[in-house]
Amino acid sequence: MTHANLPAHDWPVLEPGWVWLCGAGPGDPGLLTLHALNALRQADVVIYDALVQEQILDWAPQAQHIYAGKRGGKPSAKQRDISLHLVELARAGKRVLRLKGGDPFVFGRGGEEAQTLVQHDVPIRIIPGITAGIGGLAYAGVPVTHRDVNQSVTFVTGHDQSGNTPGSLDWNSISKGSQVIVIYMGMKHIAQIAGKLLAAGRPATEPVAVVTTATTDAQDVLETTLGTIVDDIAQAGLEPPAVICVGQAVLMRQVLDWQSMASGELPRNLDPLGRGRPAESA
Ligand code: SAH
Repeated sequence: MTHANLPAHDWPVLEPGWVWLCGAGPGDPGLLTLHALNALRQADVVIYDALVQEQILDWAPQAQHIYAGKRGGKPSAKQRDISLHLVELARAGKRVLRLKGGDPFVFGRGGEEAQTLVQHDVPIRIIPGITAGIGGLAYAGVPVTHRDVNQSVTFVTGHDQSGNTPGSLDWNSISKGSQVIVIYMGMKHIAQIAGKLLAAGRPATEPVAVVTTATTDAQDVLETTLGTIVDDIAQAGLEPPAVICVGQAVLMRQVLDWQSMASGELPRNLDPLGRGRPAESA
């Protein structure tokens, strides 16, 4: 099918009674996918979270916009209400778009919502999005993998369902086995998390980047170390949402901070790892 304002392609049709669970990316509306745009154009109702930039709703002027934000890690009773609300809207014959920050299946409870919908026989489609731990760091000039730095990356959440540091995480193993660690929802418990990584042997000099409201106009980046992160966050007055990246990948920002370069600054260091020029071939 051809869609108004989208080039010819077999664009899926959002049928009445369906729910599409869709990632909105980390903030910048340009980081929406074309499937997200196609969904926004067709929805009767858009249910969106706190982390979805309101500008994005301008792509769905025809739809009813419902805010379903949870702030400060409030518990899951509310989550159940949201899922059941989606079921009700679908059963009422609406074309429902559930819009979530980043990627719906990355620390976003998209899996839980999808599960409830399937259990209630509501047909669904999943539209992935750019997750903050990858796209947000890219906007800060931090590549989550780089051949000279890491062959693996670990994504962790800084708090579990109870709002505490996840007890199920083996911080010792993460510290020893993960070259680069990307922490979501880590601000509240950063002192504990940094303490656990240090206790497990990560050096106090380990580079860390804290990127708040990544990809939006209010993006802020703090470069610090595991040993100084707590004081530096307090001193800079940084607030969530933030992704926190621990590891040598952070040093690449000295050469890849493309936003500062776009505003006229020179790279701080063309060879931050001190390994000479990158090899030409694999
Ligand atoms: N599904 C989302 C994550 C939801 S959990 C995703 O894939 O990105 C919420 C956490 O995501 C926040 O506490 C923060 O750690 C991170 N986050 C989401 N958007 C962000 C942004 N624009 N800047 C920094 N961190 C962000």
